[in-house]
Amino acid sequence: MGSSLPPKPFNIAIIGGGIAGLTLTISLLKHNIPLTLYEAASQFEEIGAGVGFEPCMVRIMDLISPGIKEGFLRCANNVELDPPLWFTVRVGDRRKEDEEGVVLQKDGRKIRLGEPIFEMPARRGPRGGVHRAQFLDELVKLVPADVAKFRKKLVNITRADDGSDDAVLHFADGTTAQHSAVIGCDGIKSRTREVVLGKDEAQPVFSGKYVYRGLIPMQKAKEIMGEQEPTTPQMYVGYSGHVLTFPIANGTIMNVVAFSSKAEWNDPEWVVETSREQMCSDYTRWSPTVQAIMANMKNPDIWALFNHGTPARTYFRTQPRICLVGDAAHATTPHQGSGAGMCIEDCYILGELLGEANSTHDLEAVFRAYDEVRRPRSLKLVQTSREAGMLWELQGPKGDDLEALERDALERMNWIWDHDLTKDLDQAKMLLKQQ
Ligand SMILES: Cc1cc2nc3c(=O)[nH]c(=O)nc-3n(C[C@H](O)[C@H](O)[C@H](O)COP(=O)(O)OP(=O)(O)OC[C@H]3O[C@@H](n4cnc5c(N)ncnc54)[C@H](O)[C@@H]3O)c2cc1C
Repeated sequence: MGSSLPPKPFNIAIIGGGIAGLTLTISLLKHNIPLTLYEAASQFEEIGAGVGFEPCMVRIMDLISPGIKEGFLRCANNVELDPPLWFTVRVGDRRKEDEEGVVLQKDGRKIRLGEPIFEMPARRGPRGGVHRAQFLDELVKLVPADVAKFRKKLVNITRADDGSDDAVLHFADGTTAQHSAVIGCDGIKSRTREVVLGKDEAQPVFSGKYVYRGLIPMQKAKEIMGEQEPTTPQMYVGYSGHVLTFPIANGTIMNVVAFSSKAEWNDPEWVVETSREQMCSDYTRWSPTVQAIMANMKNPDIWALFNHGTPARTYFRTQPRICLVGDAAHATTPHQGSGAGMCIEDCYILGELLGEANSTHDLEAVFRAYDEVRRPRSLKLVQTSREAGMLWELQGPKGDDLEALERDALERMNWIWDHDLTKDLDQAKMLLKQQ
C-alpha cells in the first residue's frame, strides 16, 4: 500500500504491535510518514479469544483504510439479525429461584431462570465478533514486512543530546534507536506511559473482576444451549458475576467470557492457570446452561481485569516527544466491549493529524490537539465501563431491579455508538491551526 505523497520530514517510532500499533502503522503509511514499529515479542501475536466491534468502529476502520474494514469482514461473524442485536439479557444466577423457577420480577412479570428479559439492540451496519488472532493477521497483511522490528523490548526513552529534542529508545537487548517522536502502543503494562506520567501515576489497578475466557465449537455449543441461543449474543446476569457468549469466526465458534468478582488480586501474574473444578465452583449457584457452558470450556485460564484507576492527566510529553495510544493511554475493563474500538478511534485522529504535520516542530501541536480531543472520550469509557461491570453483576445503585437495569442498559451505549468522530477530527484540526 504505497503512498503517492512525499515522505514527511520526521521519523516516528511505534512501540507495540497489537491492534493499536498495527492500525496506527497503517494510518501513518497512508500519509507516507517514515516509521519503525518495535515489538517485544518475536512476532505479531494475539490470544485465542474473541473481540467485538460495533458499526461506529467499523466505519472508522474504513476511514483509516478500506483494507482494514475488508479484513474485518473476512473474519467477522457476518450473521446479522434484523434488527441488529447487541445482547439478549437473561438471569443466569439461581440464588433467588423459588419452587416455580421464578428468580425475579420485572414490570409485574415473573422472570424465570434463563428466560429472555429484554434485548439490547445494536446499531445497523457491519459489526460483529472476530477471533483476535485472525483479525491481527488481517492487519499484518496491510503492513510491509520491513516496517517492523521484533524482539525489541523498550526499557527506556531519553532525550537526544544533539539539540534536536528527538527521542532515544533503549531496548532490553542493549541497542538504541533515535526518532523524532515515540508513540506508545504498548498496552496496559506500558513502559512509555511510565515515561510520560511517572511510575506511580502510570500503574494499572485491579478492577475487582476477573474473567475466564474460552471458545466452544459451535456444534458443541448447540448441543448445550439448543440451535438458536449460541448463534446470537447472550448475556447471563447474576450476583457478582455475569457470562457472555457470542458467535465468532463466521459462526463456527462460540466465544465465552465469564466474569466473577474478588476484592484483591495478589498474584504478580495477571493470567493464571486454573482447574476446571475451580472454574466450575464459581458457578455452582448458576443455571444448568451456564454450568454446562463452563464445563465445556477448553484450557481454562483466569484473567485478572486491571484498568487505569487514575485517569491520565495527559497523553503526551515533549523533550523528548512521546504520545500514548490505545490501552497504554486508557486501559479499560471490557464491560462495554469498546476498548479496541477506542484504539481504532485514536489511530484515526492521530494518523490524520500527523498527516497535516509538515515538520518535526509541528509534532508537539499535533499531540496537543490529539490529547485535547481524545482524552475526555476515551477516559469516559474507562469510568463508565467500570460502572457497567457493576450493573451487569447486579451491584449497581439499583441492585437487581430489572426495570432499572433495562433502562440503564438501553441508554448506556449511545454516547459510544452514535458519536460522529469526523466532527472530533474537524475540531482537532482547528485546534492544530490555532497553535
Ligand atoms: C476480556 C476482554 C475482552 C475484551 N473485549 C473487547 C471487545 O469485545 N471489543 C473491544 O473493542 N475491546 C475489547 N477489549 C479491549 C481490547 O482487547 C484492548 O483495548 C485492545 O486489545 C488493546 O490493544 P493495544 O494494541 O492498545 O494493546 P495490546 O493488545 O496489549 O498490545 C500491546 C503490544 O505492545 C507490545 N509491548 C508491550 N510492552 C512493550 C515494550 N516494552 N516494548 C515493545 N513492545 C511492547 C506487546 O507485546 C503487544 O504486542 C477486551 C479486553 C479484555 C481484557
